[in-house]
Amino acid sequence: MTDSIKATGSDTHNEARTDGGPASDPAELRAKLKAEVCAEIDHWADHITALSDDIMRHPETGYRETRTAAVVAEQLRGMGLEPVTGLARTGVKTRMKGRSSGVTAAVLGELDALVIPGHPHGDPETGAAHACGHNAQIASMVGAGLGLRAVMDRLDGDVVLFAVPAEECVQVQWRLGLVDDGELHHTAGKAELIRLGEFDDVDMALLTHAGAASPAIGVGGEGNGSLVKRVRFTGRSAHAGGTPWLGISSYKAATIAVAAIDAHREFFKDEDSVRVHHLITKSGDSVSAIPARTEMEMLIRAANVEAMRDASDRIDQALRGAALAMGADVEITTGVAFLPFRNDGPLAELAHANGCELVGEDDCALVSGNFGGSTDMGDLGYVMPVVQPFASSGRDGAAHGPEFWTEDHYAAAVVPAKLMAMTVVDLLVDGATQARRVIEESGPKIGREEFVALHDSLSGTRTWPAAAQQ
Ligand SMILES: [Zn+2]
Ligand SMILES: [Zn+2]
Repeated sequence: MTDSIKATGSDTHNEARTDGGPASDPAELRAKLKAEVCAEIDHWADHITALSDDIMRHPETGYRETRTAAVVAEQLRGMGLEPVTGLARTGVKTRMKGRSSGVTAAVLGELDALVIPGHPHGDPETGAAHACGHNAQIASMVGAGLGLRAVMDRLDGDVVLFAVPAEECVQVQWRLGLVDDGELHHTAGKAELIRLGEFDDVDMALLTHAGAASPAIGVGGEGNGSLVKRVRFTGRSAHAGGTPWLGISSYKAATIAVAAIDAHREFFKDEDSVRVHHLITKSGDSVSAIPARTEMEMLIRAANVEAMRDASDRIDQALRGAALAMGADVEITTGVAFLPFRNDGPLAELAHANGCELVGEDDCALVSGNFGGSTDMGDLGYVMPVVQPFASSGRDGAAHGPEFWTEDHYAAAVVPAKLMAMTVVDLLVDGATQARRVIEESGPKIGREEFVALHDSLSGTRTWPAAAQQ
């Protein structure tokens, strides 16, 4: 990564350049500009793969990605751009102007890693590890920028490069603490950036995520929305051997809650893909005393907002019933982790066509169905058209596990850089007609205030004292 990225490759190889003037045939112009951005990205391939590898070896978790953000800012400055930093704590954003503006397409990369202690490429001190491949996203975002900057003077719209924080739903207690302190309103990065107005000047967004070893590219599929809960049962401590009858066990309340939640699983609709995961994160301090405080952390996933709301209500019912059973108090804090995700059809069609052109039809899959996981691209999809193709990581290990990392940085970062840059060319060339079509055909989206209100309608903290439940 030591070579200068100040000059474009086409400053030295400009035979591919075409002027993009009105006389050009749009299809021919589109093909020529795509060839130009791909040649440019190939010129920087070693730089892009080195960047992906460097970030993989320096993982940081959400809202704490300070080194990664600094690396991104340095890359963008190296390209002659002027990034804004510190957005929603660590986000980095810059704009490349087209020959005319009016429509803006964003190419995104996620800054954060997971916590997977013992991961071979993880940070031994913090346990952070890029077991979801976001390192390759950042490199593909920079790569797309390196390609597109050579043709911006022939595009009829702007490109925003945006490195966004905190996609992974980890360290929930710490993030909810930041929400309690008023430092954050949303736990996930894109929702927080939407609230702060940082997506107000963007019309659509592309991001490529790491996938398994094959196919080379996959486009389509849907993801669940998810809610997080922090639960605090409060009972009364007493000597567990001498005077247990004086105590109220918050731990027993939690175990009853687990049984009650499991009883509800039978009543979720299959098509809603509801998943409820929970941990007891703290319970008492001494086994010889009745535990007065027990805390739980939960993640509730569902395919649509109505099912999220229904599952959340059922879980609250189970928690309240368990508290009542033991005479304990319960405080429940609920926050939206992510809204349900779906790719917008018109953008996905463009990305799939470019994927087929890049890697061949046999290696560019159309994916359908719910992949079970969740992402804050779902949140962004509520306010603008989005697409999130998958690109090969070169490995078949399960994502979010110790066997998953970026093995093939070319497949994971350079190929998606081309895929996104080609799709941006489609969107913004020739009067940005495709971008306008995408906006029109992607269906209704909501505004920033409506988005925050939707989140807030699913969030909040309530306490049910034992006395009030009786
Ligand atoms: Zn992930
Ligand atoms: Zn991810």
